[in-house]
Amino acid sequence: MINALRGMKDLMGEESRRYRYITETAAEIARRYGFEYIETPILEETRLFKRSVGESSDIVGKEMYQFTDKGGNDVCLRPEGTAGVVRAFTQAKLDRRQGLKSRFFYFGPMFRYERPQKGRLRQFHQFGVESFGEASVEEDFTLIVMLSEIFDALGIRYKVLLNSLGCSECMPPYRERLVSHLHDIEDGLCDDCRRRIATNPIRVLDCKNESCQELLKEAPRITHHLCESCNADFERLKSLLDDAGIAYEVDPNLVRGLDYYSGTAFEFVSDEIGAQSAIAGGGRYDRLVEFLGGKPTPGIGFAIGIERIMDLVQMPEPAREGWYLGTMIPEALPALLRFARARRREGERVVVEYAPKGLKAHLKGADRSNARYCGVVGEDEYAREEIWVKDLEAKEEQKRSLAS
Ligand SMILES: [Zn+2]
Ligand SMILES: [Zn+2]
Repeated sequence: MINALRGMKDLMGEESRRYRYITETAAEIARRYGFEYIETPILEETRLFKRSVGESSDIVGKEMYQFTDKGGNDVCLRPEGTAGVVRAFTQAKLDRRQGLKSRFFYFGPMFRYERPQKGRLRQFHQFGVESFGEASVEEDFTLIVMLSEIFDALGIRYKVLLNSLGCSECMPPYRERLVSHLHDIEDGLCDDCRRRIATNPIRVLDCKNESCQELLKEAPRITHHLCESCNADFERLKSLLDDAGIAYEVDPNLVRGLDYYSGTAFEFVSDEIGAQSAIAGGGRYDRLVEFLGGKPTPGIGFAIGIERIMDLVQMPEPAREGWYLGTMIPEALPALLRFARARRREGERVVVEYAPKGLKAHLKGADRSNARYCGVVGEDEYAREEIWVKDLEAKEEQKRSLAS
């Protein structure tokens, strides 16, 4: 027997139903906000992710699902969705169309080559959106509202964490301040943090180590060092959220793991899968398009970790739907297949049992396939070109023309 690869799993039955319910619900809401579906290749050149996700990140450092293909190309299964969408946006030259706003949503598998353990798969799924060309903080507000609407629709409770990561004007001086503080407390920090002081000091702030967090309590806060324009945007965003009745908490330690984020950063967390676990995250990346060789274009997006919310989703009870059809005599099968085809053309879901069986067995089959109607052709019905139909919800029986 051949099994799936380590850290990879099948979505089937209840899980595949949940996956589709999540992606369809989110896609429908994204559509209402003017976003359109984009599908980019799962495989990209490794350098796309090295440049966009950042050499110093854990993803590029340790977790890339990277290999050389038969043509000798250095390729990588996408570890996240944003880089590919930005690449597609730039490749289609949409960055050269002044004033154009492009809004995309996507969903699908992402890959990280890490040690498989509970809750961490090598192939997992995300739903995400990316918005290009809109620099106003109203867009940040709109994305947060859209994300809360998605979780509301899925019946998931959440808390919104909010931060601003500043801009190219206020971030560098803040970073210097932070680095000098980190050097003061360096001896007490964990190995990862000490390494990050040189490579990515901002990431030290979200170290999960409690002793590090204790030491970081006195660290300078980015929100206290924002320039005038970043500060005005952050205040505006908070007042819009207040106005919309969306509760949030400012978390100065909320820094996104990826290097290209600037301005608004947000995370939706849930207590239902462990203390304050992130179920979605996003923010601005106004420098990323330029980073990847396009014209400077503001951008903002978010991604939902689908596996993280899989068990939290409140799904509506599946309603009985469509038809189950069967015969008691083999010669009735061609007429039954014609009847099935006519129903499917009307848009109905139809399951046909080809083997002739008794009525009781067919009723059981109809129940198992969750059909609303059970249609059976017996000898008498066949002679009169009729089909016996039972409505399993209304518990009513009737005869109907088999040619209808
Ligand atoms: Zn700024
Ligand atoms: Zn640490």
